[in-house]
Amino acid sequence: KEALLQKYKGKETCTKNGKKVHLYANIGNVGDIPSVLENDAEGVGLFRSEFLYLGREDFPTEEEQFRAYRQVLQTMAGKKVIIRTLDIGADKQVDYFGLGEEENPAMGYRAIRICLKQPEIFKTQLRALLRAAVYGNLSVMYPMITSEEEVAKIQKIVKEVENELTKKGVPYQIPEQGIMIETPAAVMVSDELAQMVDFFSIGTNDLTQYTMAIDRQNAKLDDFYNAHHKAIIRMIRMVTENAHKHGKWVGICGELGADLELTDTFMEIGVDELSVAPSMVLKLRKQICEYEGYMLD
Ligand code: PEP
Ligand code: MG
Repeated sequence: KEALLQKYKGKETCTKNGKKVHLYANIGNVGDIPSVLENDAEGVGLFRSEFLYLGREDFPTEEEQFRAYRQVLQTMAGKKVIIRTLDIGADKQVDYFGLGEEENPAMGYRAIRICLKQPEIFKTQLRALLRAAVYGNLSVMYPMITSEEEVAKIQKIVKEVENELTKKGVPYQIPEQGIMIETPAAVMVSDELAQMVDFFSIGTNDLTQYTMAIDRQNAKLDDFYNAHHKAIIRMIRMVTENAHKHGKWVGICGELGADLELTDTFMEIGVDELSVAPSMVLKLRKQICEYEGYMLD
C-alpha cells in the first residue's frame, strides 16, 4: 500500500476534471519540516507559531522569532509557508502571559484577542514575520477572527509596523495575508471579510466546537460529536462561495481536511487548498487525483 502511494510523489495534485488543488502540510515546529518534504507536500499550510511561546519562561524576542521563521522559509526553499500568528489561550496556557483563570477558556481571552489587547506582543511577532518574508514565500494568517472590525484593527497595526521598519531602514516585505475561518460569526460575515483579506483558511477543529457547542477537549461528548454534520459542510460551502465571489482562495487546515470520506465533497464545493498532517499528504493526493467530478467550463 505504501509503495502504491510512492508513485504520487512529485505528481501534481489535480482532479480528473482539471481542478488543481494545493496540498500543504501542518507543522508545529521546525523539526517537522523533514517529514513535510519527505511526504512531498507542496508547502506548509499551517505553521502553529505558538510553539515558539510554549515551554519557556519569557516571551521569545523579535530576533529569536525572526531566525526561526527565516529558517523555516529557507528550508522550504521558495515553497509556500503559511505562518499563523500566535494562538495562545484556551488549551495552550503559558504562565508568563499572565492570562489568569477563566470560567470558559475556549470562549475566552485567546489568540487574536490577546494580540489586539496587547499590541506590543503582536507587533514583535509581526516585525519578525515581515523581516523574515524577504527570505521565502511567506503568507501570514490570523486566528479566531469574528468580525470586520478585528481585521481592520490588524491592518492598522500591520501598517504601523511597516512604517516603523521603513523608518529604521530595516529590510522587510509585506506577505500575503489571510484569516482563519473558525467561528460561526466569521462564516456569516465571510462575504465582507473576503473583501478585506487575500485568503481564507477554515479551521474546522474550532469551527466544529463553536458551531456544535461541543468542547473539543471533552471526551464525554464524543457520542454527540459528528464531524460530518451538515451544518459544517454547509458552512464550508458558504465560505468558499463568498471567497470565490471576490476572487480569493480558500483552504481547510483543520482535521476535517484530511478526512478521505469528505475529499470528494470538498472538490465538488471547490476548495482550493488542503493542509493536513504530513503523513496524510500522499493519501489525499491519490484521492484528489482520482476525483472525476463534472467537466469544468
Ligand atoms: C482549527 O481550529 O481547526 C485549527 C486548525 O487550529 P487549532 O487546531 O490549532 O486550533
Ligand atoms: Mg483553531
